[in-house]
Amino acid sequence: MINAVKRPSASLAVNGRSYFWPSRTTVVICFDGCDPAYLGAARAVNAIPAIDRMATDGFATVALAAMPTFTNPNNISIVCGAPPSVHGVSGNFFLDRATGEEIMMVDATPMRAPTILASFAKAGAKVVAITAKDKLRKALAYQLDGIAFSAEKADTCTLAENGIKDVTGLVGRKAPDLYSADLSLFVLDAGIRLLETQPVDLMYLSLSDYVQHTFGPDEPEAICFMREVDRRVERLMALGAVVGIVADHGMNDMAEAGGSPRVLYLGDRLDAEWGPGTTRVICPITDPFVRHHGAMGGFVRVHLFAAHLDRDAVISFVRSLPGVALVLSREQACKRFDLPEDREGDIVVVAEKGTALGARAKDHDLTQLAGARLRSHGGLAEQEVPFLISHPLTPQHQAELGATRLRNFDIFSVALNHVRA
Ligand code: ZN
Ligand code: ZN
Repeated sequence: MINAVKRPSASLAVNGRSYFWPSRTTVVICFDGCDPAYLGAARAVNAIPAIDRMATDGFATVALAAMPTFTNPNNISIVCGAPPSVHGVSGNFFLDRATGEEIMMVDATPMRAPTILASFAKAGAKVVAITAKDKLRKALAYQLDGIAFSAEKADTCTLAENGIKDVTGLVGRKAPDLYSADLSLFVLDAGIRLLETQPVDLMYLSLSDYVQHTFGPDEPEAICFMREVDRRVERLMALGAVVGIVADHGMNDMAEAGGSPRVLYLGDRLDAEWGPGTTRVICPITDPFVRHHGAMGGFVRVHLFAAHLDRDAVISFVRSLPGVALVLSREQACKRFDLPEDREGDIVVVAEKGTALGARAKDHDLTQLAGARLRSHGGLAEQEVPFLISHPLTPQHQAELGATRLRNFDIFSVALNHVRA
C-alpha cells in the first residue's frame, strides 16, 4: 500500500536548499561501501538486473563522497544534504583539544544542522529511517518524529524510542548478526514490509559494509550479496517507489601480495622522529565494531602537543613517508574538504590508494582481521561512489546533472526535485 499523504506545502527549505514534497514514496538507499567496482563485477555476471535497469531507464552517474570517506560523516551529510562543515560530524571520533579526551562524535555531541528527514516529518510527512547499526540510527533519527530503528536492535524496538514495535514480527525473522550480510538485507526487508503495510512519504535505508570489508568485488560472496540486494531493489520499485541509491564511500584492498595489511603506523613514525607524547594520531574510523578494519583506514588526524614542534616541519616529515598521498594543515583541509575547524586536527593525512594509516602498532589489534586481507576506506581513493535514480529526470536536469560532478549528499535533492512527474 503506497500512497503519499497530500502535500501541505510545495517545498521545504533545509540547510539552505529546497526540496519538493514527495509526490510518490521516495526511498533513498545508502549502499554502505558500495565501491563502483562492486556494481561492475556484479553487472558482468548479470547479477543486478534491477540496478542495471535504474541506470538505463532512470539516471546514473558517479558522484563524490564527503571526506573523510567514512560511514558517519557521509550518512549524516546525505540526510542533511550538506557537507560536514554544516553538520559538524567529520568522523567517528575527534580529540577535544581542551581535555585531551577522544569524543565519539555521533553519540556525545549534538549535530549542528537539521536533517531532511526530520524536517519533512515535522511538516507532516510519514518518514522512516532504518539503519544497520544502532549507533547510526541515533544520529539519523536526530529530532525525527517518525519510525526509526536499526537491524541490530530490531528485537527491542519500542513505540516510545523507535515509533514502531515488533519489527522482527513484521520482517518474519530475528535480528541479524552484526557481522553478517543479513544485517543489510534485514534493513531492506524491513523497508519493503513497511511499504507493503502502511503509507510512507520518505524512507532512508542505510546498509552495512561488512560484505565489502570482507570480500572483494569478484568474490562469490560479494556477487551473491549484490544479487540479494538487487532483488530487494526490484521489489521497492515494483511497489511504486522512486528509488535513489548512493554509497557513503568506496572500498579498497589495503594488503600486501602475501596478505598482510599494508599499514603506515604514523604514530610510531612521529614518536621516533619527534619523541613520544609530542603528537597524537587520531584514527576517525575507530568505532566499537572494528573487526573488519582493525580501526585502520585512509585518513587520520595528527594533533601536536609540544610547544616547540613546528607544524610545517612535521608536515614535511609526514610528506616524506611512503604510502602518504596528501598532507594538509587544518585550515587547508577544512577549506578543501568542507570540514568543521573546531573538530579538525592540526594536520590531516590521507593515504595513497592501497595503504592504510594507523596510530601506533600497539593501538591496533590486527588479530581482529582473523587472517582476512585488510579492505578499508577513508581517503580520496574511496571518494567515487555510484549515484542512481530509478526514474528518468526532467530532460533539462538529465543533461545538466549528467555534466556536473554530483556529491553523494545531492541524492535527496535529485530524487525529490528532478524526477520527471
Ligand atoms: Zn560505510
Ligand atoms: Zn567501513
